[in-house]
Amino acid sequence: MNRIVEYTCIVCPAGCLLRAEVEGDRFVKVDGAGCQKGVEYAKQEFSDPRRMVFTVVRVRNGELPTVSVKTSKPIPKSNVSNLMRMLASIELEAPVEIGEVVVSDAYGAEVIATRRVSRREPD
Ligand code: SF4
Repeated sequence: MNRIVEYTCIVCPAGCLLRAEVEGDRFVKVDGAGCQKGVEYAKQEFSDPRRMVFTVVRVRNGELPTVSVKTSKPIPKSNVSNLMRMLASIELEAPVEIGEVVVSDAYGAEVIATRRVSRREPD
């Protein structure tokens, strides 16, 4: 028996409401997409939803207490909470360079620093 799964497309600001028709674990079709990207988005959300992760990691002896980081590509949505917990347990030593790899294998992606944090000068 077919059922309808709704998604809001986040590919562009139009935010089309996508109504995907699925049968069991099989994607049948989608209505409501303003373009082909929305069709692909609904298929991806149904079969293998993924998310970019943006957060901060603590920094020891830095001019700032944390550094902003992001994944190099989307990771499986089901692993986002695990990655957030892992990153919450990490503390880097300053300096941290922009583009520095903080975690090399985060569910198929790298976690990368998105800014520089210099070492704090001793008092
Ligand atoms: S379906 Fe196309 S037009 Fe609609 S939100 Fe997604 S990308 Fe934008």
